[in-house]
Amino acid sequence: MARKPLHVIVVGAGLAGIAIAHGLKKHNISYVLFDRETTPRDRNWGITLSWALPLLESLLPAELVSQLHLCQPDTSLSVAAASEQGVLVRDGLTGAVKIRMKYPSGVRRMQIQKTKRVLSAGLNVHYGKKLESLSYGDDGSVTAHFADGTSETGSVVIGADGGASKVRRCLLNEEDAAQEVLPYAFMNFSFSLPADKARWLDAEMNPSVDVAPHPKGMYMGLFLLDKPDLDRPETWVFYVLVTWPIASKEDEENTDNRLERLRAHIDGWADPYKSVVDWLPDDVVIGADQLRIWHPKKWDNRGGRATLAGDAAHSMTFHRGQGGNLAIKDAYEFVQQMVEAEEGKKSLKEALDSYDEGVVARGQEVEISKQQAAAFHDYDNFDNSPVFKMGIKPAGS
Ligand SMILES: Cc1cc2nc3c(=O)[nH]c(=O)nc-3n(C[C@H](O)[C@H](O)[C@H](O)COP(=O)(O)OP(=O)(O)OC[C@H]3O[C@@H](n4cnc5c(N)ncnc54)[C@H](O)[C@@H]3O)c2cc1C
Repeated sequence: MARKPLHVIVVGAGLAGIAIAHGLKKHNISYVLFDRETTPRDRNWGITLSWALPLLESLLPAELVSQLHLCQPDTSLSVAAASEQGVLVRDGLTGAVKIRMKYPSGVRRMQIQKTKRVLSAGLNVHYGKKLESLSYGDDGSVTAHFADGTSETGSVVIGADGGASKVRRCLLNEEDAAQEVLPYAFMNFSFSLPADKARWLDAEMNPSVDVAPHPKGMYMGLFLLDKPDLDRPETWVFYVLVTWPIASKEDEENTDNRLERLRAHIDGWADPYKSVVDWLPDDVVIGADQLRIWHPKKWDNRGGRATLAGDAAHSMTFHRGQGGNLAIKDAYEFVQQMVEAEEGKKSLKEALDSYDEGVVARGQEVEISKQQAAAFHDYDNFDNSPVFKMGIKPAGS
């Protein structure tokens, strides 16, 4: 009897979901991609794609590979220049370089919202579709049910729906699927500056990643988010990531006076960090945020019908810059398994068992990144941290 062709339901059109969809499309495997968003989220940030960049390029069609620079915060930054400047870790007290990790094989800084917009071109993607539940048919099918009352039936569903994944909560009980909240105050906010200051900051900071631990037990990073007009520095958008161990009732309750709390922490910091915080306008918007992680626990893939990828499968802090790279690795591995299943070399159960084993093993990075987060708040021991020992290479390489 002829095998039914696969139909893959991808939930979540973030980095992982988009990469999966492109890989499936390239191999002529039927898929459909759903996302709950109708408009881009207000949150935006950049990621450094390093060791997974070649994997992403292999999943994308050639016309999108040639447009990857459009996903960058600064579309004029060449891969060669970004690789040469690498990732910069300074001493927050003095501003001196602690390590500069270079990537001769190439890195790209990608802005999340631009990446979603540029790379979703040509995909069968449906927005405004919030997954609510999954059900399984006697014929071996799986059905995804959405909040608007619609549904989609296919052979396999992959949850690429981020750190608070609903698909994960369908595959595991609430307790096992729940994220852990780390005990740090966390702020992630963007800002612009007058032209002279913006130009100074742009020249002063590393173009991809410029981060520092400070002896007061604090982490801060400066990053570029966008250069909408390369010739007008006043339009450039930067952002700050800052974390410190929860130290007060206000930190614990994450009260709205975030700029005041940040300013109370900034004395003793070197430039460029200190000046940036001093220059922030009083009305800068700093939303409530938390650092949440999830260590993978083996889930039941329902006989090869349901699995997870990216942050849904392993959510981690950004302190070692691995989450996005792992999301692409998951996408690459999932597509390879689907190709083998489609060609009849494996059953879907064998394909997903094999994929799940890899994804759970890659999840060891959650603990490594947690250690890195702790190390960024432990100045005296920072030189023993994973970034010093492993750089931003994947665990196990
Ligand atoms: C500040 C910051 C800095 C970072 N820096 C780096 C870095 O330098 N290097 C690196 O490798 N990684 C980095 N990361 C991590 C990286 O951004 C993530 O690991 C990556 O974006 C995860 O992609 P994803 O597709 O798994 O999830 P997401 O990008 O979160 O996408 C999930 C998608 O699913 C959708 N969705 C959610 N729920 C539902 C639902 N119920 N139904 C339908 N759709 C749903 C969402 O709308 C979203 O579009 C950073 C993260 C942060 C926050």
